[in-house]
Amino acid sequence: MSSQAQPISHATEGTAASVSPVTDCPRDRLRVTQPTALTAVNVHKSYHSGSVVVPVLRGVDVAIGEGEFAAIVGQSGSGKSTLLHLLGTLDKPDEGEIWIGQDCVNTMKPLERDRLRNRDIGLIFQFYHLLPELTALENVMVPRMIGNGLFAWLRNRRHYEKRAKSLLEKVGLGHRLQHRPNQMSGGEMQRAAIARALITKPQLLLADEPTGNLDRQNGEEVIRALMTLRDEESLTIVMVTHDDEIAQSANRIIRLTEGRVAA
Ligand code: ADP
Ligand code: MG
Repeated sequence: MSSQAQPISHATEGTAASVSPVTDCPRDRLRVTQPTALTAVNVHKSYHSGSVVVPVLRGVDVAIGEGEFAAIVGQSGSGKSTLLHLLGTLDKPDEGEIWIGQDCVNTMKPLERDRLRNRDIGLIFQFYHLLPELTALENVMVPRMIGNGLFAWLRNRRHYEKRAKSLLEKVGLGHRLQHRPNQMSGGEMQRAAIARALITKPQLLLADEPTGNLDRQNGEEVIRALMTLRDEESLTIVMVTHDDEIAQSANRIIRLTEGRVAA
């Protein structure tokens, strides 16, 4: 396990060779010296609005060590969500590479990328997207209901239920198993969403403004739940937040400015 920032070097930044198709993923460009959970190498991303190109990320280099709890901070519009989506393989960089552990995402076929995302990455957002007609326990099991055929679901249901209960207990919701979302506070709903993101036992948890919709006390409870899960589930966590106080809870702060990671 490493909780240190990893040095990265990439030989081709700024040269014509670095403007490579997104499928390019030369392994020798990755020069991390210790195992990393997640690495972005020279990542660029722009959005196009008509004929206007809006550059957002302009050469992001970052390596997250296994077991780290890293916060990505920066002004509104600085590209935090854009970077998180790239790290979570929800979108592709225009240039540069994303690595999940030792696997380079760029060269993966879409199906392979989807499988990796489903297996290795849990995602949470500012809004919880719980299903209102289901209890907390059922909501947490939803990814398992969807990800299995009917027979596999029926065969494994008890096992999944046990895991869902255990996760809800770890996030402090052992007394809310049968509650529906409208019977829960915002912080409780977010903690249920976190448990749901972990039902498939991913190694990485990516969170985009998980406390953005919560008051201070509920926000702190969510952060406490994340810290417990990082330790008990051996997770690596990357959390985007615009709240500097919330970011202080992380063991590392990564600041985005002008499309890059600030030194
Ligand atoms: P942050 O999360 O730091 O607030 P974002 O990553 O959401 O920033 O957005 C960075 C910039 O990219 C903003 O100027 C935003 O308006 C723009 N942007 C984000 N998503 C899109 C999109 N799908 N199409 C066009 N512009 C976008
Ligand atoms: Mg954002």
